[in-house]
Amino acid sequence: MNRLSLLLKSNGFVNSIRMTSTFLGIPIYKVNAFYVDGLLIDTGFTFGRDRFLKLLDTLHPEIVVNTHHHEDHTGNNFLIREKYHLLPLAHPKTSFYLRDPSHWLPWYRRLVWGCPPPSETGELNSKVQTKKFLFLVIPTPGHSDDHVCFFEPNEGWLFSGDLFLSEQMKYLREEENIFSIIDSLKKVVALHPKKMFCSFNGLIEHPMEALHKKIDYLENLQKGVEEGFRRGLSPREIQRRLLGRVDRLGFFTFGEISKRNLIYAFLKLKGVKR
Ligand SMILES: [Zn+2]
Repeated sequence: MNRLSLLLKSNGFVNSIRMTSTFLGIPIYKVNAFYVDGLLIDTGFTFGRDRFLKLLDTLHPEIVVNTHHHEDHTGNNFLIREKYHLLPLAHPKTSFYLRDPSHWLPWYRRLVWGCPPPSETGELNSKVQTKKFLFLVIPTPGHSDDHVCFFEPNEGWLFSGDLFLSEQMKYLREEENIFSIIDSLKKVVALHPKKMFCSFNGLIEHPMEALHKKIDYLENLQKGVEEGFRRGLSPREIQRRLLGRVDRLGFFTFGEISKRNLIYAFLKLKGVKR
């Protein structure tokens, strides 16, 4: 049922490993892991394990890190541990999630990516050193509470995990914190990255422009939601006016990722409960 296409693309020192999950030949979702100078950032999703590991045989990772616990970023942690005897490093909270992913992973996500078996992670320090580069670990909660980015200050590379994703997000996961996302975006803008490697889009050539656009978009959206609230509009009406009525992703994910979540996330400050 589930097929995978895998593409290795080189941007100088940085290799993007793009994994696309497909159903009946239709691409469902893509995610990038990155490899640079012996460092593997994220491990893709479990359904892609055979081809992913084959590729790693040619890359020879020496250090493995995770940006956060989601199953499309940690899906092959357990195999890397088994095959290369490397302990992936992550935020301290990640180890709690990976102890048993079947506890928190909804069934539809298992169908798309597979459910990783339980695995262990070690704790990241504030820096990760490879032969040529030094990566700073930047805590960037919001998308998840254990989310981190990796920043190489001399090169200006930012590995942004799932912090950025798109300039104009219309959907939010139930557990995401929109205000923490905005704070985290501002935190990475202050680093002045020159290149951003996003888990969803791959290389983004002009990260400052993209990050500023996203922050502006979210702050304007917040203003729009608050304005609607002041005028006595219902959350549904606010959503219809600002994001459109149709909430396709909300339907397919049973409300886990939806426009409704994004509107309610902003209304939380106004004391509005779902
Ligand atoms: Zn994620």
